[in-house]
Amino acid sequence: MSTLEIKDLHVSIETEQGTKEILKGVSLTIKTGETHAIMGPNGSGKSTLASTIAGHPRYTVTSGSISLDGEDVLEMSVDERARAGLFLAMQYPVEVPGVTMTNFLRTAKTAIAGEAPKLRTWTKDVKTAMAALKIDPEFAARNVNEGFSGGEKKRVEILQLELFKPKFAVLDETDSGLDVDALKVVSEGVNRAQAENEMGTLLITHYTRILRYIKPDFVHVFVDGKIAEQGGPELADRLEEEGYDRFLNVSA
Ligand code: ADP
Ligand code: MG
Ligand code: MG
Repeated sequence: MSTLEIKDLHVSIETEQGTKEILKGVSLTIKTGETHAIMGPNGSGKSTLASTIAGHPRYTVTSGSISLDGEDVLEMSVDERARAGLFLAMQYPVEVPGVTMTNFLRTAKTAIAGEAPKLRTWTKDVKTAMAALKIDPEFAARNVNEGFSGGEKKRVEILQLELFKPKFAVLDETDSGLDVDALKVVSEGVNRAQAENEMGTLLITHYTRILRYIKPDFVHVFVDGKIAEQGGPELADRLEEEGYDRFLNVSA
């Protein structure tokens, strides 16, 4: 079992108006096999947490820590984070002209695993995973993300998840822009990765819709850069009914 531990994390960015603190002390522990949903209103800092875990240079950690089985994640390069078992959708390039999906996937898998996968099993694994995600086989020959629709990009994100077998996946708004059919296919992919690889998932979402398909063990509500409330799946049900109003009308 592995543990990803976020402790009292404070994160700032530089803006034209000066330094702005966005995360104001976030603590969260997630173990492999667990699904944690991070919910909250727009602008509450959810994507900032994802970007910070991913090592985006724009975000400065001013205090606190992120560790994976005791190893300091903040000291790791983006590549080292991937090799350590973190899957962060954003670290992958949006479009890579001249690089086919097949080559990209194999190169990335080799970098993450530290050795090239055996060609025969790899080809079979890719085909199986693509079929499960209802990705057209001709995608394998296309350039990475070139001309992919939003829904296709999301499927390819989950394809990577299934093939790279990370310990932890951070999925930021994976549900946005998906129709119900695509949402089901994508959710089933996440569920398979969890069942087969004991993956831990940090599922970031504004809406409760995806939580009908991916059942969270824990729900954390982000408000103004902090976790305002934590609970089990019933908290998501409550948010579905009530929305975020009660978190926002603090001084009313
Ligand atoms: P969420 O994902 O919950 O909607 P974000 O993490 O994207 O929230 O944003 C949190 C706050 O930080 C917002 O006020 C947003 O405007 C600000 N912010 C985040 N990233 C940047 C950035 N790169 N430049 C300026 N402001 C940013
Ligand atoms: Mg589970
Ligand atoms: Mg966001």
